[in-house]
Amino acid sequence: MARKTASQTRHVPGPQRATSNAAAALGPRHRGISNATATIGTSQPGSRGRDDVRRGRRLVEVMDTTLRDGEQAEGISMMPAEKLTIARRLLEDVKVDRIEIASARSSEGERTAVKRIVGWAETAGYAERIEVLGFVDVNGSVDWVRTVGARVINLLTKGSLRHCREQLRRTPQQHLDDIRRTIEYGVKRGVVFNVYLEDWSGGMLGSPDYVMTHVEALSRMPVSRIMLCDTLGILAPPQVRQFVSRIVTVFPDGRFDYHGHNDYGLATANTLEAAIAGARGVHVTVNGMGERAGNTALDEVVVTLRDHAGFTTNVNERALAEISRLVEVFSGRRIAVNKPIVGENVFTQAAGVHADGDMKGNLYESRLRPSRFGQHRTYAMGKLMGKASLEFNLERLNITLTKEQKQQLLARIVELSDQKKSVTTADLPFLISEMLQTPELRVLEVKDYSVVSNRGLMPTATVLVRYRDKNIQATGSGDGGYNAFMQALKSIEKQLGFRLPKLLDYEVHIPPGGKTDALVETTIKWEGGLKTRGVHSDQLAAAIQATEHALNLIALHRSRTGRPEKPSRARAHLRQMAKPAV
Ligand SMILES: [Zn+2]
Repeated sequence: MARKTASQTRHVPGPQRATSNAAAALGPRHRGISNATATIGTSQPGSRGRDDVRRGRRLVEVMDTTLRDGEQAEGISMMPAEKLTIARRLLEDVKVDRIEIASARSSEGERTAVKRIVGWAETAGYAERIEVLGFVDVNGSVDWVRTVGARVINLLTKGSLRHCREQLRRTPQQHLDDIRRTIEYGVKRGVVFNVYLEDWSGGMLGSPDYVMTHVEALSRMPVSRIMLCDTLGILAPPQVRQFVSRIVTVFPDGRFDYHGHNDYGLATANTLEAAIAGARGVHVTVNGMGERAGNTALDEVVVTLRDHAGFTTNVNERALAEISRLVEVFSGRRIAVNKPIVGENVFTQAAGVHADGDMKGNLYESRLRPSRFGQHRTYAMGKLMGKASLEFNLERLNITLTKEQKQQLLARIVELSDQKKSVTTADLPFLISEMLQTPELRVLEVKDYSVVSNRGLMPTATVLVRYRDKNIQATGSGDGGYNAFMQALKSIEKQLGFRLPKLLDYEVHIPPGGKTDALVETTIKWEGGLKTRGVHSDQLAAAIQATEHALNLIALHRSRTGRPEKPSRARAHLRQMAKPAV
């Protein structure tokens, strides 16, 4: 590949560049971004990007499309209030630069959600950062967007000749004319445009001349950003580097975003390459939510851009775990426990030797420190755990045992693990209590209960609780059996002397192939990060067991500190001790 100097390859966007060959396209980039011309034109298209990056920490803009592309995933539908909460968290706490919240001309429910988000954004000063996907339909999308009060349209245009011809049945010129008319119509009405190149990856592979001519024409229109989509997630990192480099080099004044999909599991790697090659913005979704294999995950991209290429973003890393959980709950789409950055197990050391190493100077720590994300390192309980892991967990629960007791406990945990029973930190007080007969670790016991459900009547519950040496009986009614049980407990809060924690998430798990008599595992997440489990063949009994565990941990904490329960202090402590659960 020919080497070119800066003076030889100063590009002016124009039709003649659109058909330039790849060698020419690998010339220097926009002088505003880089003047690192000495290495330009090497056979490594991305190398300039890396040099830029080392020179100064270039800011990459992050656009989150969880509420548009993410919500396109099958079976996901969020309520307007949930969408508003996600939008607010993304802009206020996570601090992404822009969010795309819906497609124009969508359902009435969507319209309500968009109106609420736009209404909030107007008063909070985020109006320019709210975007809506629109179509090349002259007035349709623009009118829809204006009625909901949004100002920015991400216009969906065709990024490959095949899509243009076969889906739209338009010639490239006709398509461009339609785009021009739509943009003219919108601009007159105060709408700002970014433009998507749908199937841009397919275009670069099969009809690069079409793509270059299309981008060239767009660059002459009032368009803020051109957004390059790997719509089907078909590219590999070297291709992304080459294709983005080519576009950025031929159109140095353009502002390009990269929009990836994860069909090969390469979305994060591809997005990193796009940024290195000169894309100034990247598109992501929370938890990588999206159609098929999903989009590029927000957390992975932000962390990778920073750690592997020295870019900066405006994103607050400490807010990533929280937004991930929020979207998990609202979408009902759970993430894998080993999902990088935000997965439940990523900061849990399972092997005892790792815990030992951590005690001796953080030997097993990488740049992905839990504290960076507002998390804690935890140590799994199980057959691989050693003395060091147990020490960490006991310390967190503020429980002191003798050396012999610890050995006995460790042997019991390993024994349970061998029987395929999972043990969590939240189970520790109960294990100790059973094994060592130390009743003070089990201050609260649900001794008896009766829950009655009738057709047409509200379920009622009668509960008998032993709290320290007192038996307390209570009744309650609620929307379901478990709710009735909780209402009964709520009525005796005063006598217990502590507040019941708020339930955040309730998950029921039956092993694959489980029959009607299978054991049901119920996991409940409580306010403050506490998480407890119950296992029983009766689903309600499993939930009650999980609740009993939670109440015990709270009561135990209260009796150990001797302090009356104050929500903030209790929450902080619960967060501490709840982390190791599962
Ligand atoms: Zn997409």
